[in-house]
Amino acid sequence: MVEAGQNNKLKAHARGIGVSPGVVIGPVFLLASQAVKVVEQKLKPEQIDHEIARLEDALIATRGQLKSIQEDLGEQTGGRDASILDAHLMVLDDRAFLEEIIKKTRNDCCNVEVAVRDVAEGYAGMLASLKDDYLRERVADVRDVARRVMRNLTGDIDTALGSLTQKHIVVANDLAPSDTATLRKDVVSGFATDLGSPTSHTAVMARALEIPAVVALRDITQRVRAGDIVLMDGNKGVLIVNPSPEELEEYGALAEARKSIERGLDRLHDEPAETSDGHRITLSANIEHPDEIAAVTQHGAEGVGLFRSEYLFIFRGAAVDEDEQAVAYTKLATALHPDPVIIRTLDLGGDKFFRDGLGHDEANPFLGCRSIRLSLQYPQQFKSQMRAILRASSVGNVKIMYPMISNVDEVLQANELLEESKQELRDNKVPFDDDIEVGVMVEVPAAALAADALAEHVRFFSLGTNDLIQYTIAVDRVNERVAYLYEPTHPAVLKLIKMAVDAGHAKGIWVGVCGQMAADPVLAPLLVGMGVDELSVSPQAVPLVKDAVRSVSYEQSRQLAETVLKCRSGTEALRHCREMVREAAPEVLELI
Ligand code: PEP
Ligand code: MG
Repeated sequence: MVEAGQNNKLKAHARGIGVSPGVVIGPVFLLASQAVKVVEQKLKPEQIDHEIARLEDALIATRGQLKSIQEDLGEQTGGRDASILDAHLMVLDDRAFLEEIIKKTRNDCCNVEVAVRDVAEGYAGMLASLKDDYLRERVADVRDVARRVMRNLTGDIDTALGSLTQKHIVVANDLAPSDTATLRKDVVSGFATDLGSPTSHTAVMARALEIPAVVALRDITQRVRAGDIVLMDGNKGVLIVNPSPEELEEYGALAEARKSIERGLDRLHDEPAETSDGHRITLSANIEHPDEIAAVTQHGAEGVGLFRSEYLFIFRGAAVDEDEQAVAYTKLATALHPDPVIIRTLDLGGDKFFRDGLGHDEANPFLGCRSIRLSLQYPQQFKSQMRAILRASSVGNVKIMYPMISNVDEVLQANELLEESKQELRDNKVPFDDDIEVGVMVEVPAAALAADALAEHVRFFSLGTNDLIQYTIAVDRVNERVAYLYEPTHPAVLKLIKMAVDAGHAKGIWVGVCGQMAADPVLAPLLVGMGVDELSVSPQAVPLVKDAVRSVSYEQSRQLAETVLKCRSGTEALRHCREMVREAAPEVLELI
């Protein structure tokens, strides 16, 4: 919706995806697309070698610049996410890419910037046409690297973001990763983009830098002008251009109220996740990178309930070998000891791929060779990951978890490979915890229905409700068009959760929930009442979930679960949950 506002100012309310929380207000810095002016020249054959030498110099300069951005970024984020530019460096090192540039320069007798521009566009076009989301996101890397190389060839200086001296909200079609990496918190209070998804570089970097951000605003660059005042809500994914005084007041008050509630929640940092009548659960964190350790402790989580190990590969854009994995897992285990660190083995496939990596084009990737199925098809890689996890188990409280299990045979096969991995370490006198706990994710309805059989072979269950919901209701978890069907409180989902919890307990094993449902403070008391022993949520969600759990008694939670399990619809079930939280912890509803 775009409407003419007061004072002839363009006024718009835009809704996108909030990927980094916080409400900010400020003037727009409109980042134009950074096209580099290239003058085409026809060269003589004897000039070509000189041209290739220019290319080599530009590549060296570009590599140096990327490395220095990476270092600065490492410092700014306390080491977090500096690996994000690894994909850029890999483009620079891509022999096929460089050889094509050289070939084009020689064949066409053109200046090398023309060859860089045309070859990069060819690559970008090819990547953009692929179905795979991850590879499509690499288009920005290729274009960004090419722009840098061309700037170094032409001497064109990139002053855009560097020219900012006062706080602005940066609005762009998309931010190239290296642009994002040069954002300085002192001059950028937020950013908003036309493109992007919660897993795009832009979103990852926004969270790493703790800068509020909204992505997927479609045409926001067409709807704002430089200097317009915008109000951006990174929680709700809303951007208001030239807000009215009433809107400013409303949002200002909202932001203030949120801050004061959040400050109040800080007091819970050292308190246990325990109901008012003393029933204690474990509240741990879901993380994707070892550098999030600080966030885990800062928000008062008890260790890591889900380490999504595949992100090591995704951030790198390539496979990560055993030694490097062992370093990452050991870092986590050491830092969080004696709290547990549950390392989930690779959950690649579905919508998670990395460049060159395991995975094929499939008609139904979420139902295909994904996750444990893929790992079992590559036993050598799977064992090297398990050896890396075992090595870390010698220094901390490490547990291992298999994702997307759908039958007992998969568990038996994985356990057999685990035993082989242990033997290989023993043979090489490498220490590890022989009694390492092994668990499975229950995220496929078949696993919930066969939970009694699975429980005989593992020490814990962790319910992956993100997938459990999508598979139970047959609703693609990443398809906005069917998002209205994605209901955590659907009676079928709740029955499966209850079934898995009871089956686990009957066999004496503990049961956690690590899907997004656990991070919803309205639903956390329900899960506790259903008997769940552990909730694992994103670090930022820990205080609010802890508050919700501590505000109710176990008895109330159990009664809620009893009532809700009899409901005929998800809406009715959700209403009961909201009513209880509204009464017990009204501040929770203010914050979501
Ligand atoms: C889940 O499916 O609930 C889960 C935690 O795993 P992921 O979101 O990584 O698929
Ligand atoms: Mg899952």
